[in-house]
Amino acid sequence: MTFDELGLRPEILRAIAEVGYTEPTPIQERAIKPILDGHDVIGAAQTGTGKTAAFVWPILQVLMQGERRGVRALILEPTRELAQQVAENLNDYGKYTGLLHTVLYGGVGLARQQTALKEGMDILVATPGRLLDHMDRGNLFFFDLRFLVLDEADRMTDMGFLPDLKRILKRLPGGRQTLLFSATIPPEIDMLARATLWEPVQIDIGQRAAPAEGVTHEVYPVRADQKLQALRKLLETKAPDSTLIFTKTKKGANELGEALRDAGLPVGILHSDRTQQARELTLKRFRDGEYKFLVATDIAGRGLDIDGITHIVNYDVPLYPEDYVHRIGRTARAKAVGEALMLVTPDEVRRLKAIERFVRQELPRFTLDGEPIPASAGMPHEEGEKRSGPPRRTGRG
Ligand code: AMP
Repeated sequence: MTFDELGLRPEILRAIAEVGYTEPTPIQERAIKPILDGHDVIGAAQTGTGKTAAFVWPILQVLMQGERRGVRALILEPTRELAQQVAENLNDYGKYTGLLHTVLYGGVGLARQQTALKEGMDILVATPGRLLDHMDRGNLFFFDLRFLVLDEADRMTDMGFLPDLKRILKRLPGGRQTLLFSATIPPEIDMLARATLWEPVQIDIGQRAAPAEGVTHEVYPVRADQKLQALRKLLETKAPDSTLIFTKTKKGANELGEALRDAGLPVGILHSDRTQQARELTLKRFRDGEYKFLVATDIAGRGLDIDGITHIVNYDVPLYPEDYVHRIGRTARAKAVGEALMLVTPDEVRRLKAIERFVRQELPRFTLDGEPIPASAGMPHEEGEKRSGPPRRTGRG
């Protein structure tokens, strides 16, 4: 399919051409027409599939054709980074539409946002908590709401936003079009969708649990006290260009980031305890290539849309299998190829197995020298791990 066949207006096609895309992605092929036709849509699609554009383009188009009023589209995102990225997409794709947007997220002063809200906008991108703050203060009304987008719905519920979402939904007018996107559709999302969407068009672009194509996976069994050394060795042999390194905790991110810095590597640290300003600066430096390495926690790293990431390192095995897919969704974006490396200690083997079940494939093991370890060899100390059972998600992650 070509872009011309999607039924988009010239103002939007022009912006798409300027960004340099040559053909629509599968989610774009399948979602844009139903959205333009006025249907609710539930899309099972992970980041990296082009799903943001799949809802942003038709929304821009419909709003362009309508009358200028209050907020006509509300896009909810789980994290500020994602909210900012959607806002950047709106900048790029909407530049010939004359539509205005505002973005709201926590961690920055309310007053400045309040001023921005007074100026009015067509599209509002927000995280749920901060949106409610403003709604409770009477800063925002949605009488003219035409579109509601619940993006990364599984992540929003994982982060404990379900009660906030329900409060928001109660206060929005009916008669709008609702679009829900989620990498996976667990029961609570299914229920939310049933309660919120009206006869939705269901789009499942497959591979719900499958990581982006084009990524190669490498698992390195190591002892816990070898991790840092192992990472340094891998970074030396692979000499990666732009690498995102995930740790389980913020403390772990700080410690690893500082250790790599002490070793003279250009590395940034990203997690939610850092100030908004520090996070933005870190991201900018990583994007600009000033930092070759970025150490991040799952929530901070979620959905980062940065071109040219060649390697993902899972310094700690993610606690939840779907986070592995989210983490490596940062690489191999839009067809580039990337490598996903994972250090696995004996204590983490159980979680590795959970990931393999989730992605329905066995991830190949290697020694630090790059020699393949046959699957039949198992993992060292495999029998020795504690039987602690799978972790459960609680709170806001
Ligand atoms: P998303 O799934 O929305 O996070 O988008 C993943 C990446 O794909 C982003 O870097 C987009 O800029 C890019 N992208 C979106 N649509 C296309 C397209 N039709 N062709 C190539 N890249 C695209």
